[in-house]
Amino acid sequence: MIFSQISQAPADPILGLTDAFKKDPRQDKVNLGVGVYKDESGQTPVLKSVKLAEAKMLETETSKTYLGIEGVQLYNKVVQELLFGADSKIVKEGLAATAQAPGGTGSLRVAAEFVVNNTASKTIWVSKPTWANHQNIFSAAGLSIKEYGYYDAATQSLNFDAMMADLQSAEAGELVLLHGCCHNPSGIDLSAEQWAVVADLCLSKQLLPLFDFAYQGFGDGIEEDAQGLRTVAAVVPELIVANSFSKNFGLYNERIGAVTVVAQDAATVQKAFSQVKRTIRANYSNPPAHGGLIVSTVLSDPELKALWVNEVTGMRQRIAEMRQLFVDTLKAEGVEQDFSFICGQKGMFSFSGLNKAQVERLREEFGIYIVGSGRISVAGMTKSNIPVICKAIAKVL
Ligand code: PMP
Repeated sequence: MIFSQISQAPADPILGLTDAFKKDPRQDKVNLGVGVYKDESGQTPVLKSVKLAEAKMLETETSKTYLGIEGVQLYNKVVQELLFGADSKIVKEGLAATAQAPGGTGSLRVAAEFVVNNTASKTIWVSKPTWANHQNIFSAAGLSIKEYGYYDAATQSLNFDAMMADLQSAEAGELVLLHGCCHNPSGIDLSAEQWAVVADLCLSKQLLPLFDFAYQGFGDGIEEDAQGLRTVAAVVPELIVANSFSKNFGLYNERIGAVTVVAQDAATVQKAFSQVKRTIRANYSNPPAHGGLIVSTVLSDPELKALWVNEVTGMRQRIAEMRQLFVDTLKAEGVEQDFSFICGQKGMFSFSGLNKAQVERLREEFGIYIVGSGRISVAGMTKSNIPVICKAIAKVL
């Protein structure tokens, strides 16, 4: 038999946790594993701006014929404007080319395969730690992975010196994965000054930045969160961006993201982009339309865009509020350890510092599911589940 030779794959560290959560019969269980936004009532809502765009699409759609390999044209334009700014040199001079792709994950995979197949470099540097799926995606595409220092557990802060020291040993042409904002899992981002230093290092060592930009709008604001990317793009002539609308549009199951290549002139970018399209053709031929149509409908309509900006602001503010309430409630539960660093972290996640044994006790004794690294999805917290969560944490500490 052929298939009987195959061994069982381990459960995914994040999605496997959701499977276990679903099977848990306890009523008061809480899933703080996967990065999915929940509103105050614990739901993951469809945004109003998305519903309105879909209504419009239902009326105006006339065909379901294939899209081109690069997806919805208008989508690719609005994505570039969101990333770099409508008035940026990159947009105005046609220095970027964008292809719609299935989520941030699909975008990262296309980007990695494009680099492996078209450049001499077969190495990517990722932060230590990073989102668990990065290793999967990049090694599946044929890249070897090296790590640069990032998080210092002792001080719960960024170890920028270690990051710089490690990247000094990168070779010309090697990829450097940079989280555009809301670093997953640590929630700790670079400062404006640090971004400028990273940009100079990438330029002087001829490294190729690959931005993973999955949380635009969840840190400080839609424009503010793009500053790191824009700083690097102003200095480095070539880079790639893999962005996602799973979180900031709540379009998790539509699988909508984009891969954007930037080069020093329009002719070079179009040549490189022809190879991005070739990569896509060999993978899934062309993307599904729905998500791209939603995003382009919203972002090209000033009223819908304003509504969306409001909705993203609401999600960001609710998460910030939950961070504060979480820290305050832990204190009220008598926890002496200082958790105030959680309020300074950005995005959906909090790197709590809880260890594996504590994480296990939380799951087994209290039905609270968090990732083994101690990463907690603050976006899954509500005023009603925070007391339960904090009581349990107080017990396992
Ligand atoms: N990058 C990072 C850092 C993420 O956290 C995620 C989602 N968890 C993604 C990319 C991919 O998002 P998706 O494929 O769901 O759009």
